[in-house]
Amino acid sequence: MPFKLPELQYPLGALSPHISAETLEFHHGKHHAKYVDTLNALTKGTEWAERPLEDVVRKAAPGPLANNAGQHWNHSFYWQCLSPKGGGDPSGKLADGIRRSFGSFDDLRREFNAAASELFGSGWAWLVLEPNGNVSLKTTPNAENPLLHGWVPLLTCDMWEHAYYIDYRHAKKKYLAAFWNVVNWEFAARQL
Ligand code: FE
Repeated sequence: MPFKLPELQYPLGALSPHISAETLEFHHGKHHAKYVDTLNALTKGTEWAERPLEDVVRKAAPGPLANNAGQHWNHSFYWQCLSPKGGGDPSGKLADGIRRSFGSFDDLRREFNAAASELFGSGWAWLVLEPNGNVSLKTTPNAENPLLHGWVPLLTCDMWEHAYYIDYRHAKKKYLAAFWNVVNWEFAARQL
C-alpha cells in the first residue's frame, strides 16, 4: 500500500496525563489508520497512488480523496507537534516571529486558544508562516490543509472531538491547556 500510517515517535503513554494512552490508541490507531486505509482504497489502481501525499493534498478535487489525503497529512503533522519533552516557550527565529506578530508567547497562546475554541464543528488550529513573512494563526474546517492557501504550516492542534473527548469530554479549553504542556516547539522551529 503506497500510503502508510506513520509510527508515533513516543510510546502511547508518554504524553500522559496531558493526552492519555487511550486517546492516542484510538486517535492514531483507529481514526488516523482509517483515513490511511480509505486513502489507499480510493487511490488503488489510479495515478494518485504513485504520487507523494503532498501532491494529492494540493491537487485532488474537493471530495473523499482530498478529505482523506488531507486528514492523513494533518494527523502525520500533528503527531510531530507533540512531544513528551515539549512545553515551555519557543526560541530562535520562531520566537522572534511570534513576538513580532503577537507580542508575547502568552498572547499567542491566548489568541490560539480563542481561535481554536471558536472553530465551529471539526477542524484544525494552525500557526503558519504567510507568504509576506508573518507568523499567523489560522483555522481550517474539516480536513482542509494550509498548503492550499500558500501558508507554511508550523504547528497544529487537532480540534476534532476525537482528539479530546476521551480525556476531557466537552472541555476543549482543558485540552488546549494540555496541548501547550506537550507542544513540540523544536519541530515547529524546523518548519521555518
Ligand atoms: Fe484527529
